[in-house]
Amino acid sequence: ATPTALLVGTGRGAQLGILIKGPEVLESTRTVDTVVLDKTGTVTTGRMSLVDVVVAEPARTPVADPNNGESAAFRSEGRDGSEKHAEVRIPDAESSARAQLLRLAGALEHASEHPIAQAVARAAADETGALPEVESFQNVPGKGVSGIVDGHAVLVGREALLADWALTPDAGIQDAKAHAEALGRTAVLVAWDGEVRGLLVVADQVKPTSAEAVAQLTSLGLTPVLLTGDNAAAARAIADEVGIERVIAEVLPHDKVAVVKDLQAEGRVVAMVGDGVNDAAALAQADLGLAMGTGTDAAIEASDITLVRGDLRSAADAIRLSRATLGTIR
Ligand code: ADP
Ligand code: MG
Repeated sequence: ATPTALLVGTGRGAQLGILIKGPEVLESTRTVDTVVLDKTGTVTTGRMSLVDVVVAEPARTPVADPNNGESAAFRSEGRDGSEKHAEVRIPDAESSARAQLLRLAGALEHASEHPIAQAVARAAADETGALPEVESFQNVPGKGVSGIVDGHAVLVGREALLADWALTPDAGIQDAKAHAEALGRTAVLVAWDGEVRGLLVVADQVKPTSAEAVAQLTSLGLTPVLLTGDNAAAARAIADEVGIERVIAEVLPHDKVAVVKDLQAEGRVVAMVGDGVNDAAALAQADLGLAMGTGTDAAIEASDITLVRGDLRSAADAIRLSRATLGTIR
């Protein structure tokens, strides 16, 4: 490739909203055969909103029944008239349980920059007003957050975070979570004082251009792979929506780079498209790193190419541009 041709190609890229770091980048762009796509903020808009709040049934202390050995907790499901009466839900109590869930979770999430956290904090402030102060806040990357709010030890995050504290959601919460995830949504658990209290469901939207971008990348002969820290069911739903077969989900932030290395070990030449701080190491490891221009500085710095418009179709444009540039001058 002559320097002039490369310069022309790079200039043409800039016109298309594709900022190329150096002339050598066009060569690696030409040879990629696999494109790893981060989910949140890359395939989806990354602007999450709270779409559902599920309050857990208060835990009852099971009391042995002297008559038939069944627990009182089981009997209270409605076999006995008087027990059933105690189960009747008072709307006020229900709405205050919801408000408490939002208040404590929202206060904690207010201290986090995660898109899920911002959606939760915003909705909580809208619904319940000013949020309480947080003490000893901790962010657990890829899992969630913990801290003290109003004297309660609160956790908000994925199942793995709660499992670290030996907490498991009850069947009702697990069902609600599975249902939300099957719709491509992300459900995070809320616990305090040693009990799982509920579920917050957030949703994000696939960018309108993502499906077309995946179709273009596929027709250029690339294999798309969806990579995310999110749960497998939500990842699968999003992948189906945009036409991606291979999904690698529930990957902790520091393991994204290992996924790229594994694909390279399979003999693939890997492009990675991402936007987050979490993606930076994987973007640097990839044979070609492409950052969304709408993403974080860390992702942009670690990449070879910046897609200024944050439109995934620009990734396909970049491949076509490099093939055209290098193809004509060989
Ligand atoms: P992604 O790859 O989608 O950017 P992350 O690696 O940041 O995801 O997070 C993975 C998962 O960890 C999230 O889907 C969520 O379940 C949980 N999580 C991370 N941070 C938070 C938070 N601040 N609040 C609630 N859940 C969180
Ligand atoms: Mg992302």
